[in-house]
Amino acid sequence: MPGLNPPAGADRGVTYWCEMAWLPAGEVVECVSIRVEGARIAAVQPEVPPPPGATRLAGLTLPGFANAHSHAFHRALRGHTQAERGTFWTWREQMYAVAAGLDPDRYLALARATFAEMSLAGVTCVGEFHYLHHGPGGVPYDDPNAMGHALIEAARQAGVRIALLDTCYLTGAIGHPLAGTQLRFGDGDAHRWAGRVETLGHSLREAHDVVVGAAIHSVRAVPPEQMRVVAEFANRHAVPLHAHVSEQRAENHDCVQAYSATPVQLLHEHGALGPRSTAVHATHLSEVDMALLGGSTTHVCMCPTTERDLADGIGPARALLDGGSPITLGSDSHAVIDLFEEARAVELDERLATRRRGHFRAAELLDAATAAGHASLGFPDAGLLVPGAWADLVSVRLDSVRTAGTTKGAAAETVVFAATAGDVHSVVSGGRRVVEEGRHVLGDVGALLRDAVADARG
Ligand SMILES: [Zn+2]
Repeated sequence: MPGLNPPAGADRGVTYWCEMAWLPAGEVVECVSIRVEGARIAAVQPEVPPPPGATRLAGLTLPGFANAHSHAFHRALRGHTQAERGTFWTWREQMYAVAAGLDPDRYLALARATFAEMSLAGVTCVGEFHYLHHGPGGVPYDDPNAMGHALIEAARQAGVRIALLDTCYLTGAIGHPLAGTQLRFGDGDAHRWAGRVETLGHSLREAHDVVVGAAIHSVRAVPPEQMRVVAEFANRHAVPLHAHVSEQRAENHDCVQAYSATPVQLLHEHGALGPRSTAVHATHLSEVDMALLGGSTTHVCMCPTTERDLADGIGPARALLDGGSPITLGSDSHAVIDLFEEARAVELDERLATRRRGHFRAAELLDAATAAGHASLGFPDAGLLVPGAWADLVSVRLDSVRTAGTTKGAAAETVVFAATAGDVHSVVSGGRRVVEEGRHVLGDVGALLRDAVADARG
């Protein structure tokens, strides 16, 4: 099976020579030699001629992208939910219908194809916010972590590292038990959730390409006293803790009615904010919410293509970053999978909201897609082209119809504001070349997606 382990002989090293590369100072440098040994970068030398035997990487080479918020099975909804009117809540019913038909084998095939699509788009690490744990009716599989293992295997076969953010999901809404498909998401209580995730983490303790993290689905799905158990689990194991936060105004309203606190306040009061934490969406926030997130340096994961698809709203990204919250990016429901589109949407949505231009520099948006995203997923040693970091190299064409005509001085702005996932022509992930000339090692990813989506939709 293809995986992230480098091929035999790779330990002796491979040298790539980049026409241009984006280096940690936030600048584009020409003629950069990058020596890769095993899964790591061994040396970076700017402004040198191509070393003998080096593999040439055309265009601009970036560090690997971290897709910090994903639900792999939502890929089966693409296109099929666009004919309807409605809201987030009517979309959710269609999402549950797809979830109802999945088992570990179907999920492996769907996730493998979805992660391969991500890989073609330059993603080398995914944060999979995983809540479809059990069989129909909530009956555990023989291995209660069968679905989690399917996702991890899918990521390995597709050539992306994974932070499996195992999600605690206990109630259907505040004060309401799980019902219907939601029964598959639940472990009964947070202690039983923790026991299952502890087993999963233990089985993967030697795996360097996998982080087993924690997630609180939302204030809708985890009562406050249970939230603390999840937060303590994440603290005890020093792993990432993610939560959907204030995606919808109705969620804020119900939370304030029930607890006299906003979702952010509730997470703060129960120990769930901090530098290893990520608030996903954070769309509808108060000034106090922003101060709590920034003061605790909690990451905020913006998912603009999903937020616009679901008519959620526009989050205060610039104010959050200024307040101390690193911004990360996720394709979430996979309405599209294109981290360039997520990155520029953070800036362009802010322009529409404020009717002013120029809130984020391209370098800040690239940082969100790379180093900040990896840090939020428990891989702080990735997302930078420096010796010692994971060898993740994403090369973007600068001669396509979208990018041609740029220069070294404008290359970062060109890729952020005009490139698409289709301009990624080469991807090295953890030292292994998984995309070459726009082709993925798994072959025809379009065909894999067609078959897996058809199977998942039944
Ligand atoms: Zn989500």
